[in-house]
Amino acid sequence: MRIRKNVLNLPSWEPVGEPEVRIRLDRNESPFDLPHGLKRELFSELSRIPLNRYPPAFPTDVEAKIAGALGLSPENVMLANGSDELIGLILKLFEGDRVVISSPTFGMYSFFAAVEGLKVEDVPLGENFELGNIEAHAENARAVFICSPNNPTGNVQPRKRIIEVLETGAPVVLDEAYAEFSRESSTGLVKDYDNLIVLRTFSKAFGLAGARLGYAVASEETMEQLRKLRPPFSVNSLSLATADFMLNHLDYVRKIIRYIVSERERLYHALRPYAYPSEANFLLVKLDAHDFLLERGIAVKKLSGRLEGHIRITVGRKEENDALLDALREFLEVAP
Ligand code: PMP
Repeated sequence: MRIRKNVLNLPSWEPVGEPEVRIRLDRNESPFDLPHGLKRELFSELSRIPLNRYPPAFPTDVEAKIAGALGLSPENVMLANGSDELIGLILKLFEGDRVVISSPTFGMYSFFAAVEGLKVEDVPLGENFELGNIEAHAENARAVFICSPNNPTGNVQPRKRIIEVLETGAPVVLDEAYAEFSRESSTGLVKDYDNLIVLRTFSKAFGLAGARLGYAVASEETMEQLRKLRPPFSVNSLSLATADFMLNHLDYVRKIIRYIVSERERLYHALRPYAYPSEANFLLVKLDAHDFLLERGIAVKKLSGRLEGHIRITVGRKEENDALLDALREFLEVAP
């Protein structure tokens, strides 16, 4: 047997087994699991699901519910096993020999490009993390990725720039994993641009990272083709019902979003001038404090390359953020 060369060249996933961590602010997760009462209610609903049966075929009622909330039709929405799965599927959809990204950005675009054996062309974000001239690189691209709000910088790209890139006609993947924490979303643009696929997820604002649910939003024509690529049962019945449950409890989700946004602003003001403004559930901070914090039981994401010496801090619960601020004040006292 011969393993494909691009697979041999992929690094292996590191096992996720960090040292004892008291406060986990490194993965952009929601700090809130469902409150006890709601969880009991959900689990009672889940207990009625027949596990011997395959999940429903799509488009499902849940996709219809998401579409309704976005003012679109069920044919515009497809759920998948996390938005990660969708990135992989999208790179099987279009022709073109390259993937265009704007670093620093989410690592999975390059990962799935490597899986497909595709070249990655990086048009780095500018000084204020604005998009560069990616239009100049759009021709023959299999996909142009725009992450907004961007992980790990936290800024959004103006809609005007997104439209300019869409006007090239190249396939554009707009990753809106953090859009619920920001002021705007561009899902509505799929009505005008069939080269646009927007990615959203239940992992962040909805607090369901463990359930693995993401969805794509695209024109009916594009989605009809993308649907052919998703294995029919990649979203399991339990996760589907969990998403449905959360969509029936949007007041609770909105309350969590307001809490995170207000804590994010509190952290941002406390950490100025080191923190960059953010429209996501995390902050990019110019402090080389990863090891110092980890020694105190607080995990944040250590960044590298152009963001060497920076950390990405996920907004946590108030008391976690207070502990983080105390530790960072201590760090600043001892830092050279
Ligand atoms: N896009 C971005 C920008 C992300 O940061 C993440 C998660 N870290 C994802 C997509 C993946 O989300 P999911 O859990 O839905 O696979």
